[in-house]
Amino acid sequence: MTTLPESPLSLWLDTYGPYSAEPQLKEDLDVDIAVIGGGFTGVATALELKRAEPSLRVALLEAKTVGFGASGRNGSFAMTVVGLGFGVTAMLRGKQFLKDAHHYMMKAVDYMDDLIQRENLDCDRIRSGFLRTATTKSYIKRIQHDVELMNSIGFDDIFWLSAEEVRERVNSEKYLGALWEPRMVLINPAKLVRAEKELAMKAGVQFFENTPVVEITSQPNFKIKTPEGTLSAEKVVFATNAYSHLFPGLKRKQIPAFTYMIATEPLTDKQLEPIGWKGFEGVEDARNLIHYYRLTPDKRLVMGGGPVGLTWANSLDADSDEDTWKHLEKHIQFLFPSLSDAKITHRWGGPFSVTVNLTPSLGYLGGKRAVYSLGCIGHGVSLSHLNACTLRDLLLERQSELLDCPFVNRKVIPWPPEPLRMATISAIRGYLQVEDWFYERELPKEGR
Ligand SMILES: Cc1cc2nc3c(=O)[nH]c(=O)nc-3n(C[C@H](O)[C@H](O)[C@H](O)COP(=O)(O)OP(=O)(O)OC[C@H]3O[C@@H](n4cnc5c(N)ncnc54)[C@H](O)[C@@H]3O)c2cc1C
Repeated sequence: MTTLPESPLSLWLDTYGPYSAEPQLKEDLDVDIAVIGGGFTGVATALELKRAEPSLRVALLEAKTVGFGASGRNGSFAMTVVGLGFGVTAMLRGKQFLKDAHHYMMKAVDYMDDLIQRENLDCDRIRSGFLRTATTKSYIKRIQHDVELMNSIGFDDIFWLSAEEVRERVNSEKYLGALWEPRMVLINPAKLVRAEKELAMKAGVQFFENTPVVEITSQPNFKIKTPEGTLSAEKVVFATNAYSHLFPGLKRKQIPAFTYMIATEPLTDKQLEPIGWKGFEGVEDARNLIHYYRLTPDKRLVMGGGPVGLTWANSLDADSDEDTWKHLEKHIQFLFPSLSDAKITHRWGGPFSVTVNLTPSLGYLGGKRAVYSLGCIGHGVSLSHLNACTLRDLLLERQSELLDCPFVNRKVIPWPPEPLRMATISAIRGYLQVEDWFYERELPKEGR
């Protein structure tokens, strides 16, 4: 199994402060359930399992440290969007799928937010709401269509804002209108995943960090080999997201694609004065290859998105991309000229998990003793928290309405082997880029 590459530290991990990792596994241990992966999915699932059945012996193995993967690096938006957005999801999977998926995602945001508040988790939580802004006339049409679509299938908490209304919240002269959805929550992801780790440990979950799983056999129980110890477990949770292809049973279910982010130094009142942004709203644009951005509590602008990275044969060695970081800097200047001289203090990136049909997938793997979750397409912060409950119900074989969700136990279209895999994903990305170009043809070059 490949060693996971080192990665430039995200703003969230870099500013986390001292972190003490749990020791490596250095013995042969017997548990009931092994969870592989210490991101939101793994940590939250371990917690849910232990809370559901406190007598279960649950151990979590993380290759690096908790939050090393996307959960410690993301844009921090806990949102209802699934896949590539409302309109695209309806087009690819139909309106009923969108309706069911959106119900699940609303529940996911509320579930995560409730957990944070109930357990008083220190993660800079703010229920800021979400803006999807239009910067061209074509995007106005696309966003208005999305608002109408969602309203027509029964979701009335999604609104169209005029240019004046959106600019009262966040003022860029490039904004021509926006979709507004108040439900979204912003968090500090590194703080959240590690606060959840503390919670899971208090509930009795055993954590082993710097403990990569290198081999698994499954007769009769799972034998999970790590460099210095072995875990025997009756059941296994694969919570390895964009790294899942490293396991033979999950090899073709998903591939990693890469998104990149930058953060500015804390902005001054003078720099922010023309922009407003008093409500700290999370903002995305209406592209396929979206830009996503927010203000942190200490008033840094954090922006991600734009060009998406792909690698040959699913290599994971692509967490840095100089050109995309430059692109993001230019995009900040394009939207907010008052920030032209803001210093960039952090630049990072990481893999998100992509399925062939661009929607999430979780379910049983083989029999009912192993479950997996992957394919969040860059929208897994809230989703992973409700998925944890779904994975719990699958593994404990509980009746639950969560299992009716259209992501659960559905056939996953396999990615083909190379070179067809690269050709397929490059064609999808190429199509998305061409469509973005078409929607943005009226913009100057620096705005694209
Ligand atoms: C830069 C970036 C920005 C994003 N922005 C957003 C956003 O704003 N909103 C949103 O909703 N989503 C966003 N996402 C996606 C979101 O972060 C993920 O969907 C979510 O964090 C997935 O959590 P996870 O626990 O499933 O996976 P991860 O957090 O990736 O955790 C998987 C873990 O498995 C571990 N692992 C892998 N292999 C092994 C092994 N062999 N043995 C042991 N451990 C192993 C890894 O080290 C990793 O810690 C973003 C993703 C990225 C990369």
